[in-house]
Amino acid sequence: MTYWYTGVQYTIRLLKEVFPASKVLLGGIYPALLPEHAEQNSGADIIVPYQKIDSCLDKIEKVTSLPFSRELKPAAYDLLGEYYYAPILTSTGCVFDCSYCVSRKLSQFWQFPVEFAADTILDLTKNYKVKNIAFYDDALLANAESHIDPILERIIQNGIKANFYTPNGLHIRFLELKTALLMKEAGFVDLRLSLESSDRGFQSKHGNKTGNEEFQETMKILYRAGFEKENIRVYTLLNTPDQDNKSVEKSMDFIYKNGAIPMLAFYSPIPHTPDFEKARLITHVDEPLFQNNTVYLYRSGFNMDYLQYLKGLEKRYKNQNSLSKNF
Ligand code: SF4
Repeated sequence: MTYWYTGVQYTIRLLKEVFPASKVLLGGIYPALLPEHAEQNSGADIIVPYQKIDSCLDKIEKVTSLPFSRELKPAAYDLLGEYYYAPILTSTGCVFDCSYCVSRKLSQFWQFPVEFAADTILDLTKNYKVKNIAFYDDALLANAESHIDPILERIIQNGIKANFYTPNGLHIRFLELKTALLMKEAGFVDLRLSLESSDRGFQSKHGNKTGNEEFQETMKILYRAGFEKENIRVYTLLNTPDQDNKSVEKSMDFIYKNGAIPMLAFYSPIPHTPDFEKARLITHVDEPLFQNNTVYLYRSGFNMDYLQYLKGLEKRYKNQNSLSKNF
């Protein structure tokens, strides 16, 4: 992330001490969003200012004069060294273009072949004995019938036993009963949905990725598939520029009443998004350190008492659910 650039500076300094004759190339989100800043501050010799895989490989080939295969290969999981859980990606990019997010601009939307994704999961569970797998896709459910459904069918057919998580949030609009049933059977234990707000003005201003009726329909589908409130957490975005923060409480209430647990998500200003330009009018955000969500929360003047109140509310919704389950 852009606001972790001091960590990158430190790492590059260390690398240069140990490998003084080597050139350091820097890729990733930070140089893709802020190439000039990265060039001036990171200490890297060469910046790779994009995330698109082909463009990255073209650049690396040019710099090193070595050919790089375009063949899709499994991630180097053997470097992890610890296998309590593993992250996985089955696609890059997103099909939506929300005003606070840069996913679509950073990477082309591209889904990896079903066999490749399923084999990676098989490899992780069989050869590394991974029991917890988190999907980090931004659009896991897009084209479900030709993507996630067959992946899940292969997981089930191969008798893979693992707990699956979706920390990046699932698209409410795309969830069909067939996928929900497959998810349940495959072993999804903690679903995260991305509603962000039940305020219709917010939804239409920020990209229209879903609406309240769709959310209610999706909740019915999840319950029919056998999921319960404790398995379903719904992101509730807080502190976007020109958001009425009182609407956050209403969104939390709406989510809980419809059978899920609300989870606060704090807005951070991301360069090259429409909302970044709005955040700029509120406080200085060009320095990457100020793009951190907690730093922005303070600098944008968010009322800290109200923040504590919202956090208390979040806790109450969570505890209320465990209490009601125990009685
Ligand atoms: S749906 Fe999610 S990942 Fe896609 S653009 Fe919107 S916030 Fe980003």
